[in-house]
Amino acid sequence: MGFYYERYPETFRERGVWREEFGCYLLMSKGRVVLVDTGVGPADSPFAKNAGLDGRLLAGLRAVGIEPEDVDTVVFTHLHLDHVGWNVVMENGERTVTFPNAKYVIHQEDWDSVHSPEMERRPFVEECVDPLVEFDALELVSGEHTVTDEMTTLHTPGHTPGHMCLLVSSGNQKAVILGDVAAHPAQLMQPDVAFMYDADKTMARETRRWLSDRMEAEGMTIGASHFAEPGFGRIVRLDGRRLWQAL
Ligand SMILES: [Zn+2]
Repeated sequence: MGFYYERYPETFRERGVWREEFGCYLLMSKGRVVLVDTGVGPADSPFAKNAGLDGRLLAGLRAVGIEPEDVDTVVFTHLHLDHVGWNVVMENGERTVTFPNAKYVIHQEDWDSVHSPEMERRPFVEECVDPLVEFDALELVSGEHTVTDEMTTLHTPGHTPGHMCLLVSSGNQKAVILGDVAAHPAQLMQPDVAFMYDADKTMARETRRWLSDRMEAEGMTIGASHFAEPGFGRIVRLDGRRLWQAL
């Protein structure tokens, strides 16, 4: 990791310790407002409480003129507690969906995995994921799911069984919202570098490998949940070596 630390010091908290942000992405296309993941959540959400954080998603959306009612789709890269924090909020002592006009799009295999009888029940599923059913906000998908004619989901298993990326194609430009296929830029340069929270490490590595090849070949702009702000970059090649270039 020495090479990466020297070259990308802003992506480390200290030598040997990755710096992780918790980001969500907002995409607008032909009148549609699509949010990817809901992040850390308010101070009383399961993840924020544990980590002593207070999520800034709603403030960030308002800063760019978006109210919760404006969001029509929330796409989940996967069901981990740091990606579902703002699914619901408390209003006058009652729990309600944060984005009342949105469908919350989840991959079937992630839904099945967090509800499988062998899996230990985790409180964040009950608090942040299950209420989507009662509010009729849930949309389960599999395969490639068209969100708008410029956005399609792509099944990228490994970090979780139903992990998805969102592919964006607009004009002649392409982008991908990567979720946790890579939690640090080093993993895009060297796909064998593991992430401790990958559920299936072998599959996660394979996914990183083919997707990195594709992202490089197609010159995609990349947005990744845990990369340092602003969280956009590209894979470039210098002297035969693959490098991360932040944008
Ligand atoms: Zn994550």
